[in-house]
Formats: sequence, structure tokens, C-alpha cells
Amino acid sequence: MDTISLFKKILSFESITPDDAGAFDFIEEYLSGFEVIKLDIGGVKNRFFYKRFGEGEHLCFAGHIDVVPPGEGWLSDPFVPTEKEGMIYARGAQDMKSGLSAFLKACRDAKNFSGTLSVLLTSDEEGDATNGTVKMLELLKERGMLPDYAIVAEPTCEERFGDTIKIGRRGSINGVIEKMGVQGHAAYPQKAKNPIHKVAQVLPKMAGAFLDEGDEAFAPSQFVITDIRAGMEVTNVTPANLKMMFNVRNSTKTDLEAVKAFVDQHFRDMDYTLTLNQSAKPFVTDRNSKVIEVMSETIFDLVDIKPELSTAGGTSDARFFGEFGVDTVEFGVKNDTIHAINERVGVDDVIALERIFAQVIERF
Ligand SMILES: [Zn+2]
Repeated sequence: MDTISLFKKILSFESITPDDAGAFDFIEEYLSGFEVIKLDIGGVKNRFFYKRFGEGEHLCFAGHIDVVPPGEGWLSDPFVPTEKEGMIYARGAQDMKSGLSAFLKACRDAKNFSGTLSVLLTSDEEGDATNGTVKMLELLKERGMLPDYAIVAEPTCEERFGDTIKIGRRGSINGVIEKMGVQGHAAYPQKAKNPIHKVAQVLPKMAGAFLDEGDEAFAPSQFVITDIRAGMEVTNVTPANLKMMFNVRNSTKTDLEAVKAFVDQHFRDMDYTLTLNQSAKPFVTDRNSKVIEVMSETIFDLVDIKPELSTAGGTSDARFFGEFGVDTVEFGVKNDTIHAINERVGVDDVIALERIFAQVIERF
């Protein structure tokens, strides 16, 4: 089966989170030369396929079989891959069944490898990801089977195939501030405590503020306000409280404590509550790591682009490998139509991606 036939087959499974829709049975058969560890938790399926070629290092390819719901308005059936003018249309075409198909084929065909080659798959990356990749990594750690290096085949490219690899990801901290006041008549502001007026005074210093100056790997961590609400949509009552929501995509220089200190500093003499949670921690792999060097060089040799080493964008399961101390790089196709209607990918890019992964395995 060539790369594109395999890709179309994988696209045809209606694997909306957390359902693999039978895809893992197909993949188990496809990778029949590999051992398998299965870990199913609360409707989520995880699979770890591995093959020991020799004593050398352990390289793992990772990805998710699940896709987000297609939504309305597609020109073709989102689970019947449709080829048109060099593009394949289907849900998951970019995110990330292209990457997944490319590494499945590269791993199955691998011959010259000196260590352990493995594939880690989950059916819950697009969901809350609590029973997915992280659980399999915990199990592998228990068994002393954690990989030395991981390649996560998420779609990373921006303008042209080959232009970006991700060597880390920012974390994500969410916060809710509630500022209490005393409701009153707009005509008697001195008798009320108007939380809007109070908060308005500190907003200029908080909105969009940088919490650190960034570094070689990360852009500065920025305080981004996502919602402010108060009042009853009337003009004659000042409200009893105000609620403000925010998000910080944080680098390794800013943690939860730093965000708390930043809010406290500005709300110091106000009556308020703050709820904070970190949904993802930042990580970065050393630029000189073998997995980054081999990936960059292979991309340069095969598609003639020197990829940018980025940490931008949302979170991905790569963060879990980072947490477990695995040197991790992400590389895949372009990401301009991910989660969108009529998601599509260039046929040539998928073929090139498979060749790159196959070469990376050889060069390792
Ligand atoms: Zn993805």
C-alpha cells in the first residue's frame, strides 16, 4: 500500500474524539511486525507499538487518531477523502492523519535501525487529553520503556511545507478575577462601590502586559484579557460585582505564582478573588538535541528549506513527552485549514513527509 492509499484509508475512519472507529484494529494489522501495548481508559483508547532492532536509542513517533467534528458546509463528505487539483479533502487531512499515515508507513518499512522504533497513538488529543498520551507515558515509565526521543507529527508548517518545526510549546494559564462592590443608583455614586470604576484604573497596566521579556525559544508571556462582565445592561444601576477572565500563554520564565503575583500587585487594595489554573506547562527541547538536528537537516536536504525552530501556537500532546524528559520535536504538514470546513492537504506534501520520516529513521 503506498502512502496516499494508506492515508485515504485512515481518513475514512470516523474517529471523532474519543472514538477510534476501528482505526486501531486496522493499524495493529498494518504494523504486524511490532509488539503492542493497549491502554483503554474511560472510552479513550491508547496504543503503543514497538520493535526492537538492536541495543541503540529509542525513537518514538506519536500522534492522535481523533479528529474534531466536521461541522456543516463541506463540499464533499468529510469522511470520504476526495482528491481535487492536487489536494485531498477530509476531516483530519492536516490535523493529523497525514502525519500519522506518513510515520506509520515509514516505521513499517524501516530496515536500517539500531535501536527501538515505536509508535504511540491516542484517541483523545482533541478532547481534554487526560486519559490519552499522558497515561501511556506513565505506564511506559513504570516499565522502564520511555523513549529517548519523540517526533510528534502535528501540522507545524505555516506558509510552505518544511518551513517550521516546533521544539517546544508555551504553557497555558487561565484565570478568573471577581471584584466585589456595592450595587447602587447611578445618580448617587458616592453611596455605592462601583467595581467597574475600580478595575478601570488598573486595566491600562494589565491589558496586554508582558510578564517576561521572552528568550531565544519563547515569545514574551502576555496577559490577555478574554472577557469582562458586570452590570445588568441598564444605565441607572451600578453593579455589585465584576468578573474578568484572562489567559496567559506562558514561557518557562513565567509560572502560575508569577501570574498570581502580577494580579495581586494590581488588585492589592481591592476586595477580590482570583481563581487560577494551569492547563498546560511549557517545555522546550535543547536546540542541539539529536532529534532536532536530524529533523532540520533532513528537511533541508529533501525540500531545500531551513526550518524555523518555533514554540508558537496552542498546546499539543508533545508537552507530555516534554514533562517526562523526552527530547521532542514536532513536524508535519501545513496547518492553515485545521479544524476548518473543507480541511485539505497537498498530496505532494504527504508524500514528502513520509520520505522525510523514512530518512530520519535511516539517519538515526
Ligand atoms: Zn492535532
